[in-house]
Amino acid sequence: MAEKKMNLTSRVLIGLLLGLITGIIVFKLPSGVIKDTILINGIFQLIGQVFLRGIMMLVVPLVFVSLVNGAASMGDVKKLGRVGVKTVVFYLTTTAIAVVIALVLGFFLKPGIGLDMSAIETVELTINPRVPLIQLLYEMVPKNPVAAMAEGNMLQIIVFAILTGVGLSLLGKKVEFLVKLFTNLNDLIMKLVEIVMLFAPIGVFGLIARTFATVGYSGLLPLIKYILTVYVGLLIHMFFVYGGLLKGFTDLSPKTFYKKFLPAMSVAFSTASSNATVPVSLEIAEKELGISKNIASFTIPLGATINMDGTAIMQGIAVFFIAQVYGYELTIGMILTVILTATLASIGTAGVPGAGTIMLSMVLQSIGLPIEGIGLIIGIDRLVDMGRTVTNITGDAVCTAVIAKQEGELNMKVASS
Ligand code: ASP
Repeated sequence: MAEKKMNLTSRVLIGLLLGLITGIIVFKLPSGVIKDTILINGIFQLIGQVFLRGIMMLVVPLVFVSLVNGAASMGDVKKLGRVGVKTVVFYLTTTAIAVVIALVLGFFLKPGIGLDMSAIETVELTINPRVPLIQLLYEMVPKNPVAAMAEGNMLQIIVFAILTGVGLSLLGKKVEFLVKLFTNLNDLIMKLVEIVMLFAPIGVFGLIARTFATVGYSGLLPLIKYILTVYVGLLIHMFFVYGGLLKGFTDLSPKTFYKKFLPAMSVAFSTASSNATVPVSLEIAEKELGISKNIASFTIPLGATINMDGTAIMQGIAVFFIAQVYGYELTIGMILTVILTATLASIGTAGVPGAGTIMLSMVLQSIGLPIEGIGLIIGIDRLVDMGRTVTNITGDAVCTAVIAKQEGELNMKVASS
């Protein structure tokens, strides 16, 4: 088993590295049939999309089935409530800490000062009118669960799945067959995840090669300070906050934890989607990190939907960046508002590429900064998105390990092997 895991991890990493190198080389080729039609929109697109769609195909059924299982197998509704509250509090707290780190970095590193505006390709923005927070909350309850699944509305699927799980657990023995059915379905989908993951190294190669062949790096230079500040924030959060939580609450070595979690991080990096990473995260949590199915199947899908620490870091730094570019002074009141709105916005941010940047408009509006500022960073957003998605899903796994440990559902032998 250990050998197989090493193989997958290294194969995915090799795919990622080769994709990066190939992408940069192809970016340098002159435009034409070979570069555009055969490579970027041909081979890279084909293998990248086959993998991405293969894994996305499993997300809705997996999130639904695994949450029903998680909620039903928690034993009693009281435990479900306790774990649920703990999880949400944990997710929101780490996100608030992430925003604070970002604001401190934005203040000291000043990513928006000295920017050569003429070198940046700004993008015209059409941002939908702001959705009131209240609406975000009540829309978590689906009017039609089938529509929610068809649209892939994760928050609505989560609400319906948890209720279904609670219902099953209240009915107890009477619905033994249904519970068994959900367990079997879960096993089936996890098997499908394993099959699709066999294709991960090639898929990751295609996705990364296409991204770098299209975006290249020339657009990066004028914004390099902004990009680096976000990455510094992500690294600080991953090493100090997550590392500290793992050490302090679980006795697990962060190094072993990260090593095992690497395939999930690679999928997050190449797809820039927390949703797409759920299947891999779940598999690693259960098989490699020794976290019981009960806990992981509940906290991982929930985290992929509501916990976005990396996104919050980007938003905090983008606030300072845009304020500095446009010459605004941020008051303490504005900063506190950003901490609150960015934390809450993370609940409403979908785990798909680019969603965090759309939600940034809500954060900017809350303190009266110009949302056109988003146009400055949107051109290079994918490169930041890849990194922040890695942090987003790592946060879910760390929280899952902490909660599992507290509930006595973390197998230390498996976790530290
Ligand atoms: N791509 C991120 C995710 O899926 C969300 C974002 O755009 O920040 O986690």
